[in-house]
Amino acid sequence: MDTERVEADLDLTQPLFSEEQIQTRLAEMARQIEADYEGRDLLLVGVLKGAVMVMADLSRELDRHVEIDWMAVSSYAGTKSSGVVRILKDLDTDLDGRHVLIVEDIIDTGLTLSWLVANLKSRGPASVEIATLLRKPEALEMPVDVKYVGFDIPNAFVVGYGLDYDEKYRNLRSIGTLAEHVYS
Ligand code: 5GP
Ligand code: MG
Ligand code: MG
Repeated sequence: MDTERVEADLDLTQPLFSEEQIQTRLAEMARQIEADYEGRDLLLVGVLKGAVMVMADLSRELDRHVEIDWMAVSSYAGTKSSGVVRILKDLDTDLDGRHVLIVEDIIDTGLTLSWLVANLKSRGPASVEIATLLRKPEALEMPVDVKYVGFDIPNAFVVGYGLDYDEKYRNLRSIGTLAEHVYS
């Protein structure tokens, strides 16, 4: 496939992070996670669909066996948070006594994650922490404690590397801000 042509065709105003920047940062996060979870079994919980790329690359960066499970929740329609969180697909794994690390693409309002953390904590895990590649400033206003953050970003709508606009742009290797004319 002609990747360069695909990237050029996209209505991205501004590249934010290149493939290399993303991979370098994920490797740093992986080293931190390896140190923090030394001697403990780790269950990575990915939030579909946006976290697919982060999960694939972060989990393969880790120097040990981990388990991976997925949840699908809906909280977002178009470019605005709807404020409603619904489980579309639940975990297959029993969380009793497990060390859980939620893997996310982005935290915007933090609504989805604060709800998800409370939900997972009610299932008797040993611990629940969060790793997200991106975090927007608004997230700081929510009571959600994020242990691993890749990059803090400005408050703009971003796409690529798993992040979509109407299901498109997920297969970009890089992350960029979407031109406003595309979604307004
Ligand atoms: P929150 O509940 O933190 O406001 O948003 C959670 C979800 O909204 C994210 O997991 C992501 O799917 C979506 N989202 C938030 N900000 C953006 C953005 O800038 N771009 C894209 N593509 N999705 C976003
Ligand atoms: Mg997400
Ligand atoms: Mg989306």
